[in-house]
Amino acid sequence: MRIQTKGLILTEQSVGESDKLVTVLTESDGIIRCFAKNAKNIKSNLCVGTQSLCYSRLSIFKGRDKYIIDQAESLSVFYELRLDIEKLALAQYFCELMINIVPEGAETVPYLRLILNSLYFVANGKRPMPLIKAVFELRLLSLAGFMPNLVCCDKCKIYESKIMYFSKAEGTLLCDSCYKGEENYIPLSIGALTSMRHSIYADFEKIFSFNVTGTALQEFSYAAEQYLIYTVGRHFASLDFYNTMKS
Ligand SMILES: [Zn+2]
Repeated sequence: MRIQTKGLILTEQSVGESDKLVTVLTESDGIIRCFAKNAKNIKSNLCVGTQSLCYSRLSIFKGRDKYIIDQAESLSVFYELRLDIEKLALAQYFCELMINIVPEGAETVPYLRLILNSLYFVANGKRPMPLIKAVFELRLLSLAGFMPNLVCCDKCKIYESKIMYFSKAEGTLLCDSCYKGEENYIPLSIGALTSMRHSIYADFEKIFSFNVTGTALQEFSYAAEQYLIYTVGRHFASLDFYNTMKS
């Protein structure tokens, strides 16, 4: 059976002298591992379109127990990501998250849109990387069924207080009157809370259409990362690498 689809290459791995094994987030078939014969040969029509972080139109042969890519036409190579180690590290972290968080059998189009859009913003450099990263983390968790509840204080239902406390364990908020020093809560200023809310509640087209700087950005970024690590229950090598690279 042959599949015609589009997909983002999340990882690539050499097999022998000239072949590759790639992990692809496809539009139609979820995340799949595909064999790409002779793809390391620069004369091969598969060479560019099967590189990691390349978004490609793919023709894939689906055998009984494996997928084989026989055509790959690159639609976007995200060239700027390859010129900057910090951007590249963040992009690789996004790919590792996709592999670990997208639920089996999920409809992948929303995930593909999210990562393509995020990579586009990382590549063009028009938003701070910690902002893109935090939005990506919160939005990805929300898609996968772990959307925090940031509407109001979980106890008294007040919408906002000068500082709100975010539970990385529960994904809920407490206002400064209700918070009594419980563990696993992260303080958020109004700027950080507004950014968190925007990340999960804004229409997809507008997720990166805001700005936050200084301490509020640090709080926002810290809270999103902590919530992700707590929710997923593990560390990511690519995140550790990004954190050592970031300026
Ligand atoms: Zn309260």
